[in-house]
Amino acid sequence: MAASRTTPSSSQRNSRTSLDLKVEALPGVGAESAKLLERLGIRTIGDLLWHLPTRYLDFSDIRPVRHLLADREQTTEAIVGTIGQRRTARGQMMTEVELLDPVDLRPSGVKATWFGRQFIKERFREGQLIRLSGKATWFGRSLQLSNPKVEPADAERVHTGRMVPVYKLTEGLKEGHLRRWLHTAVEGAPKRSPVVSEVTDELPPAIRERRELLPLPEALKEVHFPSTEARLIEGRRRLAFDELLVLQLGLAQRRARWQRDAKAPKLVAADAQLQDWIAALPFTLTAGQRAAFDEIRADIGRTIPMSRLLEGDVGSGKTVVAALAARIAVASGAQAALMAPTELLAEQHFRTLTMLFANGGPSVRLLTSSASAPDRREILARLGSGDLDVVVGTHALVVEGVEFKKLGLAVVDEQHRFGVRQRTTLREKGVDPHLLLTTATPIPRTLTQTIYRDLDLSILKELPAGRQHIRTEVRPPEALPKVWPWLRDHVANGEQAFIVTPRIDPADGDDEAPSAIETFGELSDGPLKGLRIALLHGRMAARERDATMRAFAARELDVLVATTVVEVGIDVPNATVMVVLGAERFGLAQLHQLRGRVGRGDKRSFAVLVSDDAGDSARLQAMVELKDGTPLDGFALAQRDLEIRGAGEFLGDEQSGVDELRIVDLKDVDPRLARETAEDADAILGRDPTLERPEHASLAVAVEALWRRYALA
Ligand code: ADP
Ligand code: MG
Repeated sequence: MAASRTTPSSSQRNSRTSLDLKVEALPGVGAESAKLLERLGIRTIGDLLWHLPTRYLDFSDIRPVRHLLADREQTTEAIVGTIGQRRTARGQMMTEVELLDPVDLRPSGVKATWFGRQFIKERFREGQLIRLSGKATWFGRSLQLSNPKVEPADAERVHTGRMVPVYKLTEGLKEGHLRRWLHTAVEGAPKRSPVVSEVTDELPPAIRERRELLPLPEALKEVHFPSTEARLIEGRRRLAFDELLVLQLGLAQRRARWQRDAKAPKLVAADAQLQDWIAALPFTLTAGQRAAFDEIRADIGRTIPMSRLLEGDVGSGKTVVAALAARIAVASGAQAALMAPTELLAEQHFRTLTMLFANGGPSVRLLTSSASAPDRREILARLGSGDLDVVVGTHALVVEGVEFKKLGLAVVDEQHRFGVRQRTTLREKGVDPHLLLTTATPIPRTLTQTIYRDLDLSILKELPAGRQHIRTEVRPPEALPKVWPWLRDHVANGEQAFIVTPRIDPADGDDEAPSAIETFGELSDGPLKGLRIALLHGRMAARERDATMRAFAARELDVLVATTVVEVGIDVPNATVMVVLGAERFGLAQLHQLRGRVGRGDKRSFAVLVSDDAGDSARLQAMVELKDGTPLDGFALAQRDLEIRGAGEFLGDEQSGVDELRIVDLKDVDPRLARETAEDADAILGRDPTLERPEHASLAVAVEALWRRYALA
């Protein structure tokens, strides 16, 4: 099963196959390459097959060289004319090839150029017929293909002339090599059958037939080297099906087990006491907060451990609801833990709880990696003896490092990463605390009924009264020369700004998405020169990232150029401007969360969404749409996104590489697929709750491997 493939041997139990062999066994892979692949976690040929493309270049549009169009991906055949090489002003080696029209052998007027690819000159010779794929652009009066992919016209289509897969790489690994090896694995080599045919299909055949799914080897082949876009979607659907089915089985089994072997403490408090606590809050609870709190209170008053997801838009006030639940826990003689994804958020929560618990409330301490050794020892000792009521820290610290006397409630904040791992690790420690997860990521209803089926759900629909809306505009890149001075004006007013880009490095992939590194360089040397500006992205060390974010929060910086690592839930009341570049690359719910990073104080705040599609994107227009005078909230936007982009949209979202699932993007699952796998999982467990029948043996192995991966990854 796709989701289970921690090691190929787990699913290839019976006989050893080529899939178990080291990658070096594949033609073309040497010892050096194997070392590079190992950095991507690829050791065997089987591992290699499961290194799936992150996206595709569509080079299937084939045109005669004289009919190439500007600014689109396409493929052409041409004859190599003069090959020239020179150094550019920046000192880079440039190879330039004149392309002749194969029909009349005359210059076509189109040139191909490459930077730094020495091999072009060595591999191709004048007069040779080649196939090139890439984007053509006007250079003066002639078209030029810049850094096109190229191969001899009589060679198999691997890099050109088709939908071409793009893989995650590591330093030193060449994209062309990796693509070639995967091509060999799925299409075979001279006198060798493709290893992909040795992949065994473990889905019960009845299900595969009823759901009209491709056989697994075929699905893998289509996903690596699609014959058409339709087949690609079929292939991905098959892999996604496997992954979701296993997840559904695992979650359903786990829920049944927890409900059966319940041993959580009953956490209760008297009504009068609760009234006092609520009256002492610095504000009135919204109706939504009350309702959510009532649900949580009912849950934690039972011995069946609560598994509840508290979902609410950015700023809807989830923390105070969690804090009240923690108070009940403490009043019942138990302890509570609040875990945040980062130290900075943990600190913020610590301040909030300290404020809410003032005047005789529970004792609370902050546990972060920067705590001094004596402090840390003291906190751990007091948690162990039961003397300390509440601890706030990061997931990792609390889950791994702490023994509680009696943990009654665990709150996992901003669990946008699905949270399966946290749910699992905590419960595997042998304690069964009530568990409250919070998230600002809106999750479509279809998913809460399927993938999140082991969680109950509370939703905060409204924002506290008086909260301002972020004034949002969609603009084309041509408007930027006006945006930057406007941003400077806000900074001159003592305010701060975020600039968010869809990717980190210009070298990641060869399309035109704005990158944080490039944007930072251009702005700090140009339009934003003189401002205190810093860079923040996921490839920086956590410590450095934290320090930058901290400096920004402390107003030691004016502008932060960042990827989406800008944390959910972080409060920088002084930040009023959010500029998102390449806005069309983000989901609407994500854009909404991004703009939620501003407008957290009382100053008027703005979001500018910059996109090439500014004029005609219905999707982006949803960000400025008003309904009854109010912008759409995260839920409405997520729904809108699903409607506009359509279900079955698996591609396009940049996989970060730390995702817990390989195929399925949990933020964006096809509802039909979720429903089908839920039905099938229920049917299977209805007949065989423990998956002990022989025909379910491989599914049982897959479920086990899935949990292992969550626990160990
Ligand atoms: P989130 O749901 O994004 O985690 P927080 O819990 O951080 O939201 O709350 C956002 C802000 O709103 C905090 O400053 C909090 O004190 C405040 N807040 C929470 N509930 C209310 C309320 N009912 N009325 C007014 N302000 C509130
Ligand atoms: Mg929060």
